[in-house]
Amino acid sequence: MNKDIMHKELKVYLNSIKCPICGAQVDMMEWANPVSKRGCNFFCVANPVHYGIYYIHWERPYRLEKELAIVSDKTHQYEVEQTHYIGINPVKHTQIRIYNIDGEGRVIEGHKSKQFFYQKHLFDYQSANKEKFLNRIKTILVFQ
Ligand SMILES: [Zn+2]
Repeated sequence: MNKDIMHKELKVYLNSIKCPICGAQVDMMEWANPVSKRGCNFFCVANPVHYGIYYIHWERPYRLEKELAIVSDKTHQYEVEQTHYIGINPVKHTQIRIYNIDGEGRVIEGHKSKQFFYQKHLFDYQSANKEKFLNRIKTILVFQ
């Protein structure tokens, strides 16, 4: 495939999405960057911890494999990961991982984290902001 066309389509896609936590753009990040260990290849440019996606743009169909957002309130950090594809098979998976944090927002080591798994998508990252995201998490967790 023509590399310029590929690049252009990728750009159009990246320009169409934003970080659900702060609204910043999403762009490529060096693989050497520690946040790449989260398994994403594009991140919020303002703070890569906010939001990352794994977007496959080197083969057809182009596809968003997963997206991960991390948001905190005063007592917990929530990692919300939605999977859209496994290989070329579409899936609808959502995982919420919850960690206790200290007064400075750091995850407290040794505290048991909670994890929930759903066989559906529960978040629309692109119509969210930080407050909506937290509210949505809390609404979902009420029913646990
Ligand atoms: Zn952000």
